Amino acid sequence: MSKTFNAFLKNIKVKNPNEPEFIQAITEVAEDIIPFMEESCPEYIDSKVLERLSEPERVVSFRVCWVDDKGHVQINRGYRVQMNSLIGPYKGGLRFSPSVNLSVLKFLAFEQIFKNSLTGLPLGGGKGGADFDPRNKSDNEIMRFCQSFMTELSKHIGPNIDVPAGDIGVGEREIGFLFGQYKRIKNEFTGILTGKGQHFGGSLIRPEATGYGLLYFVEKMLYEKNLSLKGKTITVSGSGNVAQYAAIKAIHMGAKVITVSNSDGVLYDKDGFTIDKIHFIAKLKAKGSRDFKEYTKLYNSTFTAGKKPWIYPCDIALPCATENELDVSDAKFLIKSGCFCIAEGANMPCTADALKVIQKSSIAYAPGKAANAGGVAVSGLEMSQNRIGQCWSEEKVDNKLKHIMHQIHDTCIHYGKEESGKVNYLKGANIGGFIKVAEAMIAQGIV
Ligand code: NAP
Repeated sequence: MSKTFNAFLKNIKVKNPNEPEFIQAITEVAEDIIPFMEESCPEYIDSKVLERLSEPERVVSFRVCWVDDKGHVQINRGYRVQMNSLIGPYKGGLRFSPSVNLSVLKFLAFEQIFKNSLTGLPLGGGKGGADFDPRNKSDNEIMRFCQSFMTELSKHIGPNIDVPAGDIGVGEREIGFLFGQYKRIKNEFTGILTGKGQHFGGSLIRPEATGYGLLYFVEKMLYEKNLSLKGKTITVSGSGNVAQYAAIKAIHMGAKVITVSNSDGVLYDKDGFTIDKIHFIAKLKAKGSRDFKEYTKLYNSTFTAGKKPWIYPCDIALPCATENELDVSDAKFLIKSGCFCIAEGANMPCTADALKVIQKSSIAYAPGKAANAGGVAVSGLEMSQNRIGQCWSEEKVDNKLKHIMHQIHDTCIHYGKEESGKVNYLKGANIGGFIKVAEAMIAQGIV
């Protein structure tokens, strides 16, 4: 890599010590963007565009006190990283998980800049959350936590400032509690959050959007290779929102999904999941159970504790759980066993080293910032519906989602197709997402 790249990365590491995920995400982008700027737009280097994108516009950190069911006081730490508002209000999910820290949220917020730009919608980048573990908490505990969290967060967000959504540990129930508290504090009914319930401003297809969008993207990747999803074997990781709807859409499209997983291990169903089987998994998750053994008692399947789906041969791998869940040995196994497509439902699920191995292989690889953009895209559509006071039909939203995913795919092809004919989707997504925000930054001056 060039002197510019080395100097840039050195500075990032000095400025963000102890933030490995954030540095990983920036490095992944800089490896494509700096050579692109050196060759095509040196003025972006002079204007320090990438340095400015790498510095959050604002980071808010706050105490969240709440009382558990036993009457004990609990204290968590909440955050909102307002990364970039060049092309629209800050937009990105809230994550409730004990693994939440500033490094994780800054990486997610940074990725969100490029993802949101790729959707073509006017959305800036942000991310937030808390080191709160919603697992094994009662509904009342979740509600009290959400109310306390929103009491502080409400000072920093607004329909034209920052519009959060869900992420790991934050689903429709949590969004409902957060929305109710915002409305109580501000005495106004505005589209301040997306992913809301459908009776109070939520968009149809928003729960399904990330998983469905992932499959619309994969469909296009296969089409590029004159292939289709019909009859393909797919391994999925995770069993939450993204994993469930990715599996459902894959099954609808004629593929055979053979795994789901959670933080305890992997569930393998060699006959393939059906829609009913996925609904069973969804019900388990909704009642707060992570015990896949309940599934193995009913269906011919095996649960392997402590393992990930990447021990089973497949045609297509869809990591849909969390960051850095697919490492070098997993990547090598997938390549050796004939996998020809990896598309990320989760954000940054491949480690940096795994990514290098995958990129050297013939596997078609789609990064999360492109392949999982369907969720934020429909969040953007929810914001539009809220602004004009309408509720669009399922068919209309689904068609718009499909169109956006296909457009993102075409952007990746435009900027990522190499002379050999191979498509570097990561490079395509990085450059395609970058150009729009870079242009906006130059136009808006040094602010
Ligand atoms: P979710 O509904 O909370 O589900 C997360 C799933 O991942 C659960 O099955 C969870 O298992 C599993 N998981 C979490 N940590 C794990 C670990 N260390 N090892 C193995 N499995 C683990 O969250 P989600 O909304 O589906 O989000 C999943 C991923 O997609 C995240 O990377 C998120 O940032 C990304 N994403 C989500 C959206 C969206 O619209 N929701 C949009 C774009 C990207 P346990 O139940 O055992 O914890």
